[in-house]
Amino acid sequence: MQSRIKLLPSHVANQIAAGEVVQRPASVAKELMENALDAGATEIKLIVKDGGKALIQVIDNGTGMNEVDARMSFERHATSKILTAEDLSHIQTKGFRGEALASIAAVAHVELKTKTAEDELGTYIHTEANKLISQKPVATTKGTILSVKNLFFNIPARRKFLKSIQVEMRHVTDEFHRLALAHPQIVFHLIHNGNTIYQLPKSNHLQRISNIFGSRHKERLVPVKEETDYVKIYGFVGKPEFVKLKRGEQFFFVNDRFIKSPYLHHALLSAYEGLIKPKSYPSYFVYFEIDPEHIDVNIHPTKTEIKFDDEPTVYSILRVAARHSLGQFNLSPSIDFERDSSLDVPYDYVKKTPRTPKINVDPDFNPFEEEKKSKPNFLHKIKQEKTIFWDGLQSETQELSGQLEQDIAQEQLFESEVGQEHVSFQYLNKYIVTTHKDKLVFIHQNRAHQLVLFQQLMKQKEQNKFNAQQLIFPIELELQPYEIELLKTREELLTSFGFDVEYQQKFILIKSIPFEQKTLDITTIFQELIKNLSLDIPMDVQQIEVDFAQNIAEKTAVQSGTKMNKPEMDALISDLFGLNNAVFSPKGKRIFVSLSGIEIENKLNR
Ligand code: ADP
Ligand code: MG
Repeated sequence: MQSRIKLLPSHVANQIAAGEVVQRPASVAKELMENALDAGATEIKLIVKDGGKALIQVIDNGTGMNEVDARMSFERHATSKILTAEDLSHIQTKGFRGEALASIAAVAHVELKTKTAEDELGTYIHTEANKLISQKPVATTKGTILSVKNLFFNIPARRKFLKSIQVEMRHVTDEFHRLALAHPQIVFHLIHNGNTIYQLPKSNHLQRISNIFGSRHKERLVPVKEETDYVKIYGFVGKPEFVKLKRGEQFFFVNDRFIKSPYLHHALLSAYEGLIKPKSYPSYFVYFEIDPEHIDVNIHPTKTEIKFDDEPTVYSILRVAARHSLGQFNLSPSIDFERDSSLDVPYDYVKKTPRTPKINVDPDFNPFEEEKKSKPNFLHKIKQEKTIFWDGLQSETQELSGQLEQDIAQEQLFESEVGQEHVSFQYLNKYIVTTHKDKLVFIHQNRAHQLVLFQQLMKQKEQNKFNAQQLIFPIELELQPYEIELLKTREELLTSFGFDVEYQQKFILIKSIPFEQKTLDITTIFQELIKNLSLDIPMDVQQIEVDFAQNIAEKTAVQSGTKMNKPEMDALISDLFGLNNAVFSPKGKRIFVSLSGIEIENKLNR
């Protein structure tokens, strides 16, 4: 019998390994920058085109390679960093497996230009899918330029799997942040499609953090420091009042290597116990220094996870150190997150003149059909002119008095009430109780206001008639360059909703907003939009518009628990009644319940 076991041809082995090391352009950027660091570079330039899909280039001023090493560097298991298995336990460099370049070269077009200090001339090598295309001497400066083009050109399935330029760029930027934060003493540049995104001078840790995330970070962080025989901890944690709505600026480094650790994350969060609301995220930048003997970095191919030999000790040292810092900076453990609602006027309707409710009547309306209808589609709903607010009221109680039905048919619904003082009051700071005919109506203030704002936004948008408010003092919002890139892709959406935005390198200026509302929280609305955009869920434009309007309405609406005064309540009731359909909130929740005289009677005589 013929033997069946064969050695994989090396190009196949390389492609398989590439799948492990190279997931996307960001992994290439990371490996190349790590090699530059390992080569002792003091300045590293990362140049990217189209989120790395077209080009990832790293230029360093490190040791460079001679001709032989340059050729060798593309071989699998070629590494200058370890010779024996023992070396593994005290490894200080980033790379040591000697497979990054081989893997990358297997799935891309690679050009290398490199020169050592001793050599007169450098070496140029061009490969495609690990095949040598050309090699020649070249005049170049000391250091290495490695260019990776057309990643996954020979694996169409992988290439197709790559996300949008913005998303890939965000991953590249994440890797850049991690390395730049771990090595503040190294000069880093990031250039995307010809634009300089970062130019980070040699600095200390705190300076590096604020050069990346904005100068205000300095005031938002408190230092953490703890030294034991086992581990040294150094870094910064965010003051509780600056917690973010989204995960993001959370970094652990062990021996200058970024790591992910849900376990240590938990330790750190536990230090904030009682200081922050659930579902909010403090920023942190924590650096651990530990004898490499005590950690195992080799448990994950991309090496972002490591294991300490004594995890519980690290956990408690971190927790105590962070708690101590937060306490030392005079942060009372009982920070009150409930805003004093009496201090803000929630609902800016006081100056508005109340308007007589308009209603449209559907003569074909069948109240018993309502229950069968599925959840409302709001794009459709706002176009639908025929239904009225009281649809819901009727179907909801189901026991319709014939009189009410007749009233509707005769468009007399409000006639009897015109000129009459509205009875309305707030119940539990959450509901507006009002009357209509023999019915007592409980309106959920938050949902009602959400719907009013949502409809207002969608209507203004549809009619292209935004009475956008020009701001005398534009709102400045500090953002990450990639976040600004993301927003730019939705410029049309923003303008169509009345936001006039000016884009700068690290911040945006919001110069107009869709309407004046004291509760309009622009920062949160933009953060939420960025969060949604970066999820990269394919959505059609209409869906994005509806989501955006919903989000603005949700964030702006008067909250449950907020006290409302009489004019505010009346204005909201009048706005709500003025809508064509006011049964469900934009997220599909019921807005009101009602109790009829008959129902009360029934309850009484049960
Ligand atoms: P590893 O980093 O695990 O050793 P790599 O495949 O990333 O493996 O790199 C292989 C070898 O190529 C390295 O060990 C190093 O000797 C050399 N090398 C790679 N990039 C550079 C660089 N930018 N400057 C100098 N030498 C480099
Ligand atoms: Mg390497």
